Order: sequence, then C-alpha cells, then structure tokens
Amino acid sequence: MMIDCGEGTQLAMRRMKLRFSRLSHIFISHLHGDHVLGLPGLLSTLALHGKTGRVTVHTFPEGIDLLQRVVSFFCREPGYEIVYEPVSYDGGIVYEDNALTVEAFRLYHRVPCVGYVFREKAKPRHLVGDMVKFLEIPISKLHGIKMGDDFVKPDGTVIPNGRITKPADPSVSYAYCSDTVYDPRVAAAVKGIDTVYHEATYIDADMSKAHDRGHATASEAARIALEAGASRLILGHYSKSYENESRHLAEASAIFPNTILANEGLTIDLL
Ligand SMILES: [Zn+2]
Repeated sequence: MMIDCGEGTQLAMRRMKLRFSRLSHIFISHLHGDHVLGLPGLLSTLALHGKTGRVTVHTFPEGIDLLQRVVSFFCREPGYEIVYEPVSYDGGIVYEDNALTVEAFRLYHRVPCVGYVFREKAKPRHLVGDMVKFLEIPISKLHGIKMGDDFVKPDGTVIPNGRITKPADPSVSYAYCSDTVYDPRVAAAVKGIDTVYHEATYIDADMSKAHDRGHATASEAARIALEAGASRLILGHYSKSYENESRHLAEASAIFPNTILANEGLTIDLL
C-alpha cells in the first residue's frame, strides 16, 4: 500500500528495492503536485514491468477524472486493471479486509485534503496446544476460542479462555496526517493511534507563514500527537528553506519526546 505519490516515488522504490508487483492500493491525500505527480509515471512503469492483477487508486472524484485522462493517454493497454475508488472529503472507511481497515479523515489545507488511518483488526489469541489436547476440544470450537470464547465441557464445566489461550499479538495502528494546519479536530480523528505521522513544514519562527500556506509547524505536530495520546510521532514534509531539520526535531521533542524525523529510505517497525 502506498500513500501519496510525489515525483520521486518510482526512483525511491527502485533504490529501496521495493517490488512494483506487490503494490495494490494507492491512497491520495490531496491533489497538489508534490503528492500526486508521480502517479501517471508509476502506473505506466507498472505496465512496462508486466504487472498483472489490479491496482486501486483512492482519491477525490476530481482526481479520478484527471488521472483517468492522463493515464489512459500514456498507458493505453496497461495489462493490469486500474481501479479508481472515490474518497469523500468528509472521510469514512475506504478499504477493509480480514486484517485491516483504512479510514480517511478530514484535514484542513488550502484545498480539500484527507489523512488516512490504518488499523489492524484484533488478532486471534494463541491456543495452548497441551490444554486443547488434554480437554479434547473439538476442532469446530477452536476458532471461537481463539476469538475469546470460554470452553464448555460436555458435563457443563466452564474452562475460562485464559486457561486455554495466550494473549494475541498486538494490533498496530498508523495515522498519516498529510498537509494541514494545526487543528484539534485532527487530534480527535487520530485519537488512540500508536504511530502518528504529521506534516511539519515549518518551525515556530515561521508560524505565520505556516498558517498562511495551510501548513503546520513541528511543535504543532507534536501537540496533535500529545492530544491524540499517540506513542510515537513521525515528522515530515519539511520546507526546503531550512538547511536541516534539527530545529524541527528540537521543537517537537520539547512537547512530545518520542519524535522521529522521517527522511527518504527510513523504514519503521510499527510493532
Ligand atoms: Zn499540499
């Protein structure tokens, strides 16, 4: 899954040796060039690489209209299916499978913009094999027990779930807050998410610039993470006017200590 697709995306994927064939969903936050101009090129490249199956692009209806025209012009017979799924500016669930949901939520930029929350569903508990054997639990009951049911023996004795299972692996959650001004409604939308990415285009000295241009400062990103109760904050989308991001990190860390600077090639284990 990919979120946004700036011009450098294909090259970055190549450098990181990410397999183009595994890409299945692309979620676009808004229709500014630095978030979307890499998409026509990437979708064309997928065709050249003999991609099969399907790629679903999630974006606003006007984005679908635009992309369909550009992509169909450059890529007449892609060999794989490109599906466009409309995203509402008001947000809502945009993807769901057995393990994961992806939900869009509203952001506050100069143009319509959404962020995305990725939530792994609760995972099944682990069976204690010896107990399953000892109690002769029928196979038909195992799924329910993994999901938390107690086991009732034929004589009516209840064996509590905690004696026959061990806790499930933790479920991870991640929120991507693309371009936005600071707004407490963003914190409400990502409440309870473990890892929050938030744009931090500017530092506090340039706060008025941030507000004028529909962006946030690093310390404002940190306030969102704090208000949301996140355990980790990732900053990104820095203005090119700074030599480096040391002040972004210092200003955010003063408010929210567990802050990481995103930079190209960084990989993060969400567990
Ligand atoms: Zn933007």
